[in-house]
This record gives sequence, C-alpha cells and structure tokens, in this order.
Amino acid sequence: MNVLVYALHHEGAINKNSLGAVSEAARVAAELGGEAHAVLVGGNELTEELAGSVGAFGAAKAYRVEGPEGLAQPVVDAMGKLMSEQGYDYAVFGGGLLGFEIGAGLAARVGGGVTMEVTRIAVDDGRLVAERPILGDSSISTSRYKGKGIVIGRLNAFEARESGGSATVEDLDVDFSDFSTRARMVKRGEQRGADVNIEDADALVAGGRGLGNAEGFEALEQLAGALGGAVAATRAVVDAGWYPYAAQIGQTGKTVAPKLYLAAGISGAIQHKVGMQSSENIVAINKDANAPIFEFSDLGIVGDLNKIVPRLTEAIKAKKGA
Ligand SMILES: Cc1cc2nc3c(=O)[nH]c(=O)nc-3n(C[C@H](O)[C@H](O)[C@H](O)COP(=O)(O)OP(=O)(O)OC[C@H]3O[C@@H](n4cnc5c(N)ncnc54)[C@H](O)[C@@H]3O)c2cc1C
Repeated sequence: MNVLVYALHHEGAINKNSLGAVSEAARVAAELGGEAHAVLVGGNELTEELAGSVGAFGAAKAYRVEGPEGLAQPVVDAMGKLMSEQGYDYAVFGGGLLGFEIGAGLAARVGGGVTMEVTRIAVDDGRLVAERPILGDSSISTSRYKGKGIVIGRLNAFEARESGGSATVEDLDVDFSDFSTRARMVKRGEQRGADVNIEDADALVAGGRGLGNAEGFEALEQLAGALGGAVAATRAVVDAGWYPYAAQIGQTGKTVAPKLYLAAGISGAIQHKVGMQSSENIVAINKDANAPIFEFSDLGIVGDLNKIVPRLTEAIKAKKGA
C-alpha cells in the first residue's frame, strides 16, 4: 500500500521537517508493501531536480503540482484528488502550522481520521497506527484509523534519513477549487530572529520575563550568534511583544529538541517545559535558586543573567578565536 507525504519547499530546498516525514512515510510504506509518494506544490522554482530530491530520503515518486505557494487549500485540493482517485489510504505531514492546516483540511475533504503531534508511526495488522505523547508527554496514546488516515507529526519528530534512492517526477494537473485560490501570499515577511530556523538550530538561547524588556534579547542574540544558534522565547515575553510569536516554545508554541537549550530568565513552567524537555543538554540561568527550571536542567547557574550572559558570550567568542 502506497503512502502519500507532503513535502514543503522554500527557497530551493525541502525543509528538514518535511524530509523527516518523507523518511517516515517511506519506512511504513515499505512495511505495508508499498512506496512513499511525495506531493510538492509551487511555481517556477519547483524544478524537476528539486521535486526529485525527495528520492534521496526514501520517496519513490514525486508529484509536481503547479500552483500557488505557501497556501494550504491548493495542497488540500491536490492531495484530496490523489487520495480519492488513486486509492491512497494514508497521508503523512511533518509538524508546523502549514502541515496542521493542510492535514486537517485533507481529513475533512476525504472523510478521514486525523492524528496530530505524532512522534511515531507503526504498522499493525496491515494498518497504520499513530502514536502521540499526551498528558505532558507522560503517556503515549495510540490511534488506529478505520478508513483513510492523516498523520501529522510533531515538529521534527521524524528523523530525516538519507536512503540513497531516487524519485521519478510526475506532473499532476489539479483543478483548484474557487475558494482555494482566492487567497494569495503577498509577502513572506522577515521578522526578528527569522534568519535562523529555531526548529533546525542545534543550539537555542531562550529568553523569559527575567530579561526585563525587549532590549534584553539583544544580549541573547549575541550569545546565540557566538554559539551558531538561534533565539527562542517563552509565551510570557511573546505575549508582552518583546519577541515574535514564531520563537515561542511550549504547549502553545513550538516543540524543539536541540543539542543545547540555554534558558535565561525562564521560570520553567510546565507549559514551557513540554516544548523543550527533550533537548539534549539544558542549561538554565536564573537568579532564584528555587526556580522550577533547575529541576530539569543538566546545568544550573544561579545568578543575574545581565552579568552572566555577556561574559558567556565573550568566553565563547574567545574560545572560538573570534
Ligand atoms: C494554556 C496555557 C498555555 C501556555 N503555553 C505556554 C507556552 O507554550 N510556552 C510558555 O513558555 N508558556 C506558556 N504558558 C505560560 C506559562 O504558564 C508561564 O506563565 C510562562 O512560561 C512563564 O514565562 P517566563 O518563564 O518567561 O516568566 P516567569 O514565570 O515570570 O519567570 C521569570 C524568571 O526569570 C527569573 N529572573 C528574573 N530576573 C532575573 C535576572 N536578572 N537574572 C536571572 N533570572 C531572572 C525569575 O527568577 C523567574 O524565575 C501557558 C500558560 C497557559 C495557561
């Protein structure tokens, strides 16, 4: 049984989150005795080479659909057509806002079941089974699909594995619904911190209310720069307008698992913890020795971040010889 998977591309590359979804779809499709077939929607930059690049991560075929970029509904039209007309039972998405929107729309379109925040897909008795952590990641919930199934991963939960394979590219004509093309992407905005993708960064320097104000993030940007990483934030500070929402980590923000998560002026509320607790190394700077974040940190520094962060930046720069 073949499995469909959505591959999001931007600036001439498929993003890591989507490549993970492609690898995961290929793995379970093989167990079902089938192949993973990727779907890419876009304009001129969607070359045959770019479409075929999903082959290196396990897809056997790539459907190339000419259509507007960055919108959910045209992708729902394309994948809905494939699922209805070509007999696909399952579609897989990486996490992220667009994946959530397309996946939910596709489930409604094909009358399928949908599971979000999935961290593992398995095959049981010839059917897909989606596993997702629940209750603050303390338990795993397992979903089985009666009919068609849409699996939406947790951001970066699926590992992108190079398979060394190649994909054939098939151009697919889709008649988009009227409402699908009524919206158009006017501009892809660049906001503060947008030059680095926080989901892909190996090192994240996260700031909380302890920074005191928006200007406090400048020191964190310098530290992140020295580390070659990116800046993240708590909900308290994005709500206060100190940093963009795109940087929010936690229950209602992004889930990340970098090699290093350095939390500065963050108390460690459960809603923040669920978004970063899988980080390999957690370092916390907090002036309150009883702050909850120290309970799940690998290294805790009790002190004033205004003194510690600049000195840490200098020390890292000196070590790197900059
Ligand atoms: C439904 C719901 C969903 C939520 N979703 C999220 C979410 O997705 N992500 C999220 O982050 N939160 C979320 N929250 C909010 C969460 O409960 C906390 O309020 C929030 O995480 C606290 O942010 P903070 O750590 O920046 O601020 P605070 O809790 O105010 O902590 C600030 C910390 O900074 C320390 N500090 C102060 N000055 C200094 C200094 N000079 N040097 C060093 N340390 C200093 C203090 O000791 C304190 O520990 C959610 C809440 C709800 C109810």
